[in-house]
Amino acid sequence: MAENGVVVVVTGVPGVGKTTVIDAAVKAAKNEGINVILMNYGTVMFEIAKAKGLVENRDQMRKLPSNVQREVQRLAAEKIAEAAREGIVLVDTHMLINTPEGLLPGIPVWVAENLRPNVFVLVEADPEEIRNRRRRDETRERDEQLVEEIRLHQEMCRAAAASCAILTGATIAVIPNHDGKAHEAAETVFKLFRAIAAKFGEVS
Ligand code: ATP
Ligand code: MG
Repeated sequence: MAENGVVVVVTGVPGVGKTTVIDAAVKAAKNEGINVILMNYGTVMFEIAKAKGLVENRDQMRKLPSNVQREVQRLAAEKIAEAAREGIVLVDTHMLINTPEGLLPGIPVWVAENLRPNVFVLVEADPEEIRNRRRRDETRERDEQLVEEIRLHQEMCRAAAASCAILTGATIAVIPNHDGKAHEAAETVFKLFRAIAAKFGEVS
């Protein structure tokens, strides 16, 4: 479990710019000698399922029985918390995932109990900006959503983050990432790392 380490969970609706902002912030942190271990929740889940011989590729993951997926989700949280014993771990994930059955929580209570997050970062932008970024992004196959659907998803992510914060005592930082302002957003995340690193130095 995260005894001396810190778990920072970075979330935001698909296409809001999480990976863009995280990459720049982690780079800035490294330049200042602050080492941040970057983990993608989906990748950790895939590695666990593959090691157990449950899947051979990522696309088979979502076809696993839901109870198996939940167990893998729980084990992934343990693995990430283990990595956080020694330092700052940044988890790139989603608060709520769009599924045909509704929004699926990325951090249900059994994940939160294992993950023990210290900070939630919510990367946000205007729904119109998010829709346009999804349309422009040719590197990914993104689902087309109405602006109103994106707005609701983003509002629900705020509610989910607040619920997780109440359950875990983690803090929440809402970081705007408006068009052409990824650098400013990354700077804010970097400053957060610096504050955490200073605190981490005290407790280790
Ligand atoms: P996912 O959850 O699907 O992984 P993401 O939140 O990580 O998505 P990114 O892949 O970082 O999103 O960004 C989506 C697209 O938006 C990319 O094409 C990226 O270049 C662009 N983008 C990110 N931030 C900004 C910004 N501030 N202004 C303009 N474009 C941006
Ligand atoms: Mg991403």
